Amino acid sequence: MQGNVIIREYQSKCVRCGQCRSVCPVLDILGKEPASPRGKVYLAGLIARGEVPPGPRAEEILSLCLVCGACSAQCPSGLPVDGIITAAREAAASYRHYSPYRFMYRSFFTQMPLLGRLPGFASLFRGMAGGTPLTGRPARHQISPITLPQKKKPLMRVGYFLGCATNYLLPEVAVSVVNVLTHLGCEVVTPPFACCGLPLAAEGEAAAAKKTLEVNRRLYQAYKLDALITDCSSCSHHLTGQGLAGDAQPVYEFCEFLVKVLNPARPAIEISQSVACHYPCHLRHGRKLEDHLHQILGNIPGLSLVEIPGGGSCCGGGGSFSIKQKSISSRILQKYTGQILSSGAQCAATVCPSCIMQLRRGLKNQDMPVLHAAQLLSRSYLIGQSPIPEFNLSILMTI
Ligand code: SF4
Ligand code: SF4
Repeated sequence: MQGNVIIREYQSKCVRCGQCRSVCPVLDILGKEPASPRGKVYLAGLIARGEVPPGPRAEEILSLCLVCGACSAQCPSGLPVDGIITAAREAAASYRHYSPYRFMYRSFFTQMPLLGRLPGFASLFRGMAGGTPLTGRPARHQISPITLPQKKKPLMRVGYFLGCATNYLLPEVAVSVVNVLTHLGCEVVTPPFACCGLPLAAEGEAAAAKKTLEVNRRLYQAYKLDALITDCSSCSHHLTGQGLAGDAQPVYEFCEFLVKVLNPARPAIEISQSVACHYPCHLRHGRKLEDHLHQILGNIPGLSLVEIPGGGSCCGGGGSFSIKQKSISSRILQKYTGQILSSGAQCAATVCPSCIMQLRRGLKNQDMPVLHAAQLLSRSYLIGQSPIPEFNLSILMTI
């Protein structure tokens, strides 16, 4: 198994210094060594060398990980700790000849474009993610495959990587992204991309993740795009990490693209709100791109950015972690939303649909909206003149 080779290669470099322990949100809650990054790296090595057999106990310990990457960013030996843990998940599950759960999980994320055609699929997806069943249509049915800027020749042709979560859970975010990009002069093409592959890779389904990457790579090349933009920090982290398009046609996170490529003029309409900025783990640890989100929000007139005490943290979402380890996820969330509320901010903003869903769950009784940066920006640039109607403008108007 390829994963075991990777684990053995890296695990021997662990000097057991324990620095990764100080940043792990799961260890912070559970406080026990097996739940620590160091403990899971050790276990991964034992499984890879055949000293511990694959089995349910190993699976359970390895499931105590959000794949947030905080430990990898902290490790002085440069270990890709979260990568070692996900590779070990595959090894730990190898004792099963057939797992209905893994079969369904694999099918769900590899067949998403096909499944999405079934009636009721969007509501099912939303229900599984713990959201209110979707009454409107997924974003893909609400935005055009190609949207041209109004009144001007396009500056460039960009692809919009419309991820599964935004499409089915937060279609209003997709509308804001397309509105902002076209307002700033881009032709926006939204090809029928497959899942980015991160949910599969995180579950140890490396082969299936590679297949979705290949589908996306072919589409990217076929559409002849100048760049690819994603509104999701996790998609951005995974697609860049896997080398979706090589160096020639880069993949950008939404705020990164605005700052690095478009360098847009300051929007005109004031949003007089104090906003707590949540930096998703894959943005801060994976891509180290916190500055762009800060810069984009800080550029909105009237908007004041508020620091979250403790410098911000993981929201506890972690994709399927919030379903499989619901209690731990809720405890991480509760602690973090307490910190957000103590900041005194009126609103929270971020650039990850999964974090938005998780933070909305945690703040639903607190009357604090949680928005994507594109929604705030769209309002500041475009209110009342959006090429595509903003579905939940009513939410934005209340902040
Ligand atoms: S920080 Fe790196 S080297 Fe130190 S214990 Fe953790 S994984 Fe091992
Ligand atoms: S990836 Fe995050 S949750 Fe997993 S071991 Fe590392 S710090 Fe802990």
